[in-house]
Amino acid sequence: MYRPLAVSVIFLGLACNSGTKSASTSTTSSSTSNGTAVTGSDQQSNTTGALSGPNSTTEPSGTSYATNSGSATNQSASGTAATLAGGVGNGSASGSASASSRTAWPGKPNPSRVPNEMGRIMVLEYHLITDHNGDYARERGQFRKDLELLYDRGYRPVNMSDVLDKNLNLPKGLSPVVFTFDDASPEQFRYINNNGKLEIDPTSGIGIWLDFRKTHPEWNNKAVFCLLSGAQAGHNFFGDRGIQGQLSNWRFQKVKWLADNGFELCDHTLWHAQLSKYPDAFVQEQIARNLLAIDSAVPGYRVRSMALPQGLWPKNRALASHGSWTDPKTGKTVTYNWPVVFEVAGGPMRSPYDPAFNPGMTPRIQVIGNAIENTINSLERTGNAYISDGNPAVVARPAAGSVSTSVAVKK
Ligand SMILES: [Zn+2]
Repeated sequence: MYRPLAVSVIFLGLACNSGTKSASTSTTSSSTSNGTAVTGSDQQSNTTGALSGPNSTTEPSGTSYATNSGSATNQSASGTAATLAGGVGNGSASGSASASSRTAWPGKPNPSRVPNEMGRIMVLEYHLITDHNGDYARERGQFRKDLELLYDRGYRPVNMSDVLDKNLNLPKGLSPVVFTFDDASPEQFRYINNNGKLEIDPTSGIGIWLDFRKTHPEWNNKAVFCLLSGAQAGHNFFGDRGIQGQLSNWRFQKVKWLADNGFELCDHTLWHAQLSKYPDAFVQEQIARNLLAIDSAVPGYRVRSMALPQGLWPKNRALASHGSWTDPKTGKTVTYNWPVVFEVAGGPMRSPYDPAFNPGMTPRIQVIGNAIENTINSLERTGNAYISDGNPAVVARPAAGSVSTSVAVKK
């Protein structure tokens, strides 16, 4: 299913954003300012030829992966984000844990955090982990600082499947956070061939993550990778055809490594199609063919989420979460049906214990500038952060005045 891409192109931009930034990030630079997302619309790319689409006889011509900053959809700039914007500095609130509290979960969360398992959970959205900051890029050192910040403030990574399964059994006072990495770039996961032995590049996102774990061993391998398996410019299971030194036959190995090591796999379509533009059958083919590729890399893997490229819903929104496609060559039908659809913005999501929890429209926080710290500060200032009570049997809910918690039986 991996048709060769005959034209080698310069990576001009591929990102999930459709200009639907949350209020907390709307004052940051535009999508053209960071050097990675400088393409125009599809029409422009047709006329300039600067950005070639996938080389296929079955797909419509002129498709690009350019950012679509002029998108008509703006579904995710919810009021939630607005209320969370502008958090003031509260960085000292983390305090420092006493030696006696450094048990299985060291770090420096605020020891007075009141459990609240009805609170909000951040779903962070990353793209490139690279040498500069931008709307779709996080500089490597900054990424490391993000991990430090979250750790020190009491946040621990979980998978989206853990949220779905209410498997958030963190020790008391800690909060879950969901990392998502979109577009399957080599910047996220790169191998180095060291005399025949493949090693993870320590300067790639995974490399930085693993290094962080060396000194924070309870930082689990939990993050959601929203994959492309047939996009251009190396966005094909983390690199192919020698792009950034990545060989095509390393692709499945990388995806399997992620699944084997605790990370979660997510569908992001075959080549980042703007699903709003296409008929139902095409939408399903984009999603199902990518699922088929994931299944080829990790047979039997149960994908439970997809991320909308650029946040664009298909005309038939239900097709984002369930549908099917029949391979004309083999006659085999691939079906998909999952509960989670990731949007591109919108602020922290609701707790799975909240009756209004709706994974079919899961908002995310684009990691731009100080978005993480601002969101933490706002959540904590307003008492809206999900904070574990350390008791898997009950759901902690802040009582009036937030000085004590009442409980209810979980699940
Ligand atoms: Zn994307």
